[in-house]
Amino acid sequence: RREALQQTQKLEALGTLASGIAHDFNNILQIIIGAAQLLGMKLKNSEYMRWVDTINTTALRGAELAKRLLTFSRKKPTGEMKPINLHQMIEESVKVFRETFPRNIEIEAYLEAEDYMILGEEAQVQQVIFNLAVNARDAMPDGGKLIFRTENRFGNGFEADPNVEYVVMHVIDTGIGMSEEVKRRIFEPFFTTKPAGKGTGLGLSTVYGIVKSYNGFIKVYSEVGKGTKFSIYIPAHREVQKESKEVKVKVGRTGT
Ligand code: ADP
Repeated sequence: RREALQQTQKLEALGTLASGIAHDFNNILQIIIGAAQLLGMKLKNSEYMRWVDTINTTALRGAELAKRLLTFSRKKPTGEMKPINLHQMIEESVKVFRETFPRNIEIEAYLEAEDYMILGEEAQVQQVIFNLAVNARDAMPDGGKLIFRTENRFGNGFEADPNVEYVVMHVIDTGIGMSEEVKRRIFEPFFTTKPAGKGTGLGLSTVYGIVKSYNGFIKVYSEVGKGTKFSIYIPAHREVQKESKEVKVKVGRTGT
């Protein structure tokens, strides 16, 4: 229990560190961009201008990445449940993964759920997406495909409530897969097959805890050597959906 607490504190410290670095990094890049622009005014129409352009566009790309990292790591748990646009959250996260995951991992998103609003805490939903994506990345050391897909489902049998409409998020990878033995234990805290220092064994138990607290559930399909699919079922948040149709158009612009 104390270890779990230490782990949480460690993760929080890491988040703070990451956003601190992103912040400083952004400030440095702003200076480079400013200097490149001044230089550009001096060297306009000269043969050196293309080097100035390279400095400028590259620094701008870096600043954009720093900004994304900042919003990504800044979201702290507040204990407040509110309607969340899951599609927007997946799209934001995919942008970060595309910049930070190895190049040989191809990332796709098919967001097809009509009722994509759920009730939750932003930081937690982001954690769910992040933990599943990082596991998928680690399962594909030689590259592969990471796919996010959403759909609507009514609960039919198993753990689901047949009267509840769920937003389902599938996170699919073409990685190493899991044996039955591993699959049976993945939600246990501290269970990991990763080398010491790489895995904490807390990722999926955290995901499980969050999804359970939203009255959702998780299904796992996996085949050794082929890949894994995590399907996260979370009750759709209906009331807000009607008004939020407009939000769909503006996806990627709303929120912080
Ligand atoms: P950690 O990632 O720190 O090991 P997790 O709780 O997130 O902790 O995962 C536990 C274990 O579940 C992993 O060590 C791995 O063996 C297995 N696992 C999780 N996701 C996947 C995946 N997408 N593909 C293959 N194995 C996975």
